[in-house]
Amino acid sequence: MSEANANEPKLLIKGATVLTMDPTLGDLTTGDILIVGDRIAAVESELVDPDAEVIDARGMIAIPGLIDTHMHAWQTPLKGLHATGWTFDEYQARVFYLREHFGVEDIHDATLAGSIEMLDAGVTGVLDFCHNVMSPEHADSALRAHRATGQRTLWAYGMLGSFDASPGDQAWRIDHIRALRKETGDNGLLRVGMALASIERSSMDQIAKEIGLARELGMQMTVHQNPAGQIRALHDAGLLGADIVPAHGNAADNEELEMIASCGGGISFTPECEFAGGRSMTVLNRAHRAGVASSLGVDTPARVPIDLFNAMRLTFMLMRSVDAFDEREAGRYPLVRRPGTPMVEPRHMLEYATVNAARAIGLGDDLGRLAPRQLADVVLINPEPYGVSLGDPANHVVLRTQPRDVDTVIVGGVIRKRDGKLTDLDRVEAGAATRRVRERIFAAAESSA
Ligand SMILES: [Zn+2]
Repeated sequence: MSEANANEPKLLIKGATVLTMDPTLGDLTTGDILIVGDRIAAVESELVDPDAEVIDARGMIAIPGLIDTHMHAWQTPLKGLHATGWTFDEYQARVFYLREHFGVEDIHDATLAGSIEMLDAGVTGVLDFCHNVMSPEHADSALRAHRATGQRTLWAYGMLGSFDASPGDQAWRIDHIRALRKETGDNGLLRVGMALASIERSSMDQIAKEIGLARELGMQMTVHQNPAGQIRALHDAGLLGADIVPAHGNAADNEELEMIASCGGGISFTPECEFAGGRSMTVLNRAHRAGVASSLGVDTPARVPIDLFNAMRLTFMLMRSVDAFDEREAGRYPLVRRPGTPMVEPRHMLEYATVNAARAIGLGDDLGRLAPRQLADVVLINPEPYGVSLGDPANHVVLRTQPRDVDTVIVGGVIRKRDGKLTDLDRVEAGAATRRVRERIFAAAESSA
């Protein structure tokens, strides 16, 4: 904290129950957090700083800001469009084809709407998987929206062209990624990463080229991983690394999960989309056992709410269910507690959405914990008026909290929401942006039909 510049703004959060998610600090039943500039300077049971702006957090629970590691922000205005989706063709025909009709302003407004809603819901960080980069101007427009909202963003540049992508379609993306990487760098709220083309729709050759470029530029990557065997294929080609976050990864067998774990990597699990698609329900328990750093995402707002508390809750219930089912199958019923069974507590879900997610976006050393020198992304949850749950406060966070309970949101030391209200962003503007996009894209789709 001595490195702090005397002119940097200071915030002092006082009297919260602090879930630091830091193995050394643990929980503070009542604690204070001092923020200087964009970093946390101290977390102790009692801190005094006459120069700091004080946030009275008595009765509240302080957690590290939540981070969604698999989100398609451009689909925010498409809420409901894939609510009852069943087949992949339906997804193509109802949702994904609209990509062709998104103009430059649509990408901006859609991203803005999604990012505002996330911040309002305590999601301070996101890996925005943008598979709607139809021109360099579309990419610039999405980045403009992220700069405007100030959410901590790893914006993953989509390499997926049209499904019959020509090599020319990739060339401008590669040039533009190089330019953006130079422009955004590593230190701001907004960083550029790469969303690899889906392996089954591309080729290992093409994927190897994309990964090579990302590694040359030091960028974090993500990829949609649904078909079986792709993790092994990446591993066998010498391409697997902790800098690639596979989304879903449901079809991974135990050996593939070991491969991910042994390079220190993770997967991003999106519970509602996995449920709806009938994908493997056991992957997270197997991943947890293998030591994979799992994190969580909502995937497409066209199908699911922008609510990471909900994702944590569902994932916890799912992992419990898988354990209990296995016990029944093994004839151990009524249930008894055995070492390692059940596997997770609600607190693990919070770890997925903070510590592990920070690793997934390439900020594992700097983000995801409430501890000195960490980036100051903090959420205060107000359990009132209905009252805090008994027992572990992490249980209240995961099992009882909704976005409306998010009282305060701080990103990089700046207050973005306080007393339940966004300070410098407008919910109404998010809704208006959604309506503007709908009007334009459906009119464009109709006129081209
Ligand atoms: Zn996705």
